Amino acid sequence: MSEIESLFPRRLPKPAADCDVCAALMKQWRVLTNPRLPAFDPSAAVDAAVEIKRHPHAGK
Ligand SMILES: [Zn+2]
Repeated sequence: MSEIESLFPRRLPKPAADCDVCAALMKQWRVLTNPRLPAFDPSAAVDAAVEIKRHPHAGK
């Protein structure tokens, strides 16, 4: 079991379909969790996932 695996939540909160912020965060998350990319940053990826989860949406 890799340490990286334990850092990434397997189930990401679903970003709101029409929310640009959530979409941008998801895009960021995919880059941050890709070890082949220079931007790979597990810690930042976790932060992005939390932001998606906590992002408020009017009308819920
Ligand atoms: Zn959102």
